[in-house]
Amino acid sequence: MKTFATLSAFSAFGASLLAAGAALLALSAPARAAADLELWRLDCGSVMVKDLSSFSDTFAYAGQTRTLTDSCYVIRHGADYMLWDTGLPAALIGKAPDLTQPLAPSLTVDIPAQLQKIGIKPEQIGIVGISHNHFDHLGQASTFSKATLMIGAGDWQSLHENPLPFGVMPALVQPWMDGKAKVDPVAGDRDVFGDGSVMMLSMPGHTKGETALLVHLPKTGPVLLSGDVVHFEEQIANNGVPPFNIDRAESLASMDRMNRIARELNARLVVQHDAGDIGKLPAFPASAR
Ligand SMILES: [Zn+2]
Repeated sequence: MKTFATLSAFSAFGASLLAAGAALLALSAPARAAADLELWRLDCGSVMVKDLSSFSDTFAYAGQTRTLTDSCYVIRHGADYMLWDTGLPAALIGKAPDLTQPLAPSLTVDIPAQLQKIGIKPEQIGIVGISHNHFDHLGQASTFSKATLMIGAGDWQSLHENPLPFGVMPALVQPWMDGKAKVDPVAGDRDVFGDGSVMMLSMPGHTKGETALLVHLPKTGPVLLSGDVVHFEEQIANNGVPPFNIDRAESLASMDRMNRIARELNARLVVQHDAGDIGKLPAFPASAR
């Protein structure tokens, strides 16, 4: 009887060990398959560049002009919605681009009008993720002032600098600057939903807190949204660094990291400002699953 009791105690102990082991395995196993994910590309404007050599500190692209696209993205994670970048300010709608300027931005449609087409109300956006603090990525952020702003910690800090770095306009994120909405400054990489499905990846260089976004779509596979680690595909081939980047060495290191991640994961790399990459995702209002 005593032996039986001891054996039972042992087997109960063994069972609890097994249960604990299974729980640990569950914690360490990627939960990617569980997340129901969907990704839409939105039109967030375009920027005509009068002299493309302004995007090269090695004097490449002399005499070239280029229209860069400005794109934003919506990610549905189960019942949660995240916006990735918010494009150019809606005040540009209806205005002709000023072609005398080195950079001439234009916008034809705002984000809420596009969200309406896919049945999403602006107040359903719980997270506004920002690749970096430049005006062509923060433009319509304040439309979503109930959302948590996720931005690289270095870029959140730069919004408070005096003088402000090139391209940084704190007024575009006034609700968060005023403490009226929640800010989540992201240091290093961040697993946005805690299940490995959506990752903000630290890619400093263009700005102090630049990030790219990796989305593990169940059917499409991994999609890597570049932020402004590069602005167009040629920059990848020739290690192109714009002279207005904050740090040249970090820019090159981040480009190396981004390209290696794309290769290792066989991810679809979408360069957000490259009009040639629009076709890498389904045409709106269709989504990638
Ligand atoms: Zn940009």
